[in-house]
Amino acid sequence: MNPVAAAVGEAAPAKVNLYLHVLGRRGEDGYHLLDSLVVFAGATDQVEAVPAAGRIAPSLEVEGPEAGALSVEDPARNLVLRAARALAQEARIGAPAAAVTLRLTKRLPVASGIGGGSADAAATLRALDRLWGLGWPRARLEGVARRLGADVPACIAARPVRMGGVGEVLAPSPRMPARLGLVLANPRLPLATPAVFGARAGGFSAPATLPEAGWRDAVGLARDLATLRNDLEPAAIGLCPPVAEVLAALRALPGCLLARMSGSGATCFALMADAAAAAAAAERLPRAWWRWGGGLYAATA
Ligand code: ATP
Repeated sequence: MNPVAAAVGEAAPAKVNLYLHVLGRRGEDGYHLLDSLVVFAGATDQVEAVPAAGRIAPSLEVEGPEAGALSVEDPARNLVLRAARALAQEARIGAPAAAVTLRLTKRLPVASGIGGGSADAAATLRALDRLWGLGWPRARLEGVARRLGADVPACIAARPVRMGGVGEVLAPSPRMPARLGLVLANPRLPLATPAVFGARAGGFSAPATLPEAGWRDAVGLARDLATLRNDLEPAAIGLCPPVAEVLAALRALPGCLLARMSGSGATCFALMADAAAAAAAAERLPRAWWRWGGGLYAATA
């Protein structure tokens, strides 16, 4: 073990489900089985881990434009602290090294279908792996991540990935286009994931068939994605009708190749030819919404 004394920072990028098919339900607990292709956007939270002499356990400070939504909750339930405790236990890190201040800069809207909490948990595991000098391989961090939530393992690498099982089974993504733009928009209304799954009506979908060679450009990707769906979209619109307005506004943006909801909503995305087009298009959306435009966080799988 070779601990790092200074602060360590890690970005926590937003997850975007390019499609999300609900395949069925798991026997033992009724959790939904999914097939989804996930990419990570350049929109991020930030987690900083700072050694805190004189304390005995990890503590949390939250700041940033979306921090308010978390202030009503017990900090001990925050995924950042849960991730820190889980890694300290697994790596047998006790005081004084376990005494860290975790500073979370919250920019991603909470409960919005882009997995901000999962991204924060994964960024915490990466930051503490470095701060504590563990140097664990990715698979070992993913093992800890799995105990924190189904989406957390995918957020460790934060690269395009195909998710199966209840989200925890990871398979390589076909190659993404070298240039791809994403616009994200949210009507500033939280949607609880269990409520959306509960409101889902209808049968189950088949897994998608994706081209093994991947996609050369955004147009080809959008064309293939148009044959697929987010199976949670109708339920989310039923619970939160403004989601339909967001989708209509994204579809009306110049250069929009495809618009769809991410995860269990209410954030929706538009695919664009490149990051510059997406950044310019996001400016045209209503200021009252949370909106972002840019490229992928990391394009290669
Ligand atoms: P998912 O798609 O993984 O269900 P989401 O994008 O809809 O997630 P998150 O922003 O990850 O939603 O938040 C889900 C819930 O997790 C929040 O309502 C909150 O109670 C809890 N939570 C705990 N820690 C965090 C965190 N660091 N950031 C956001 N939410 C957190």
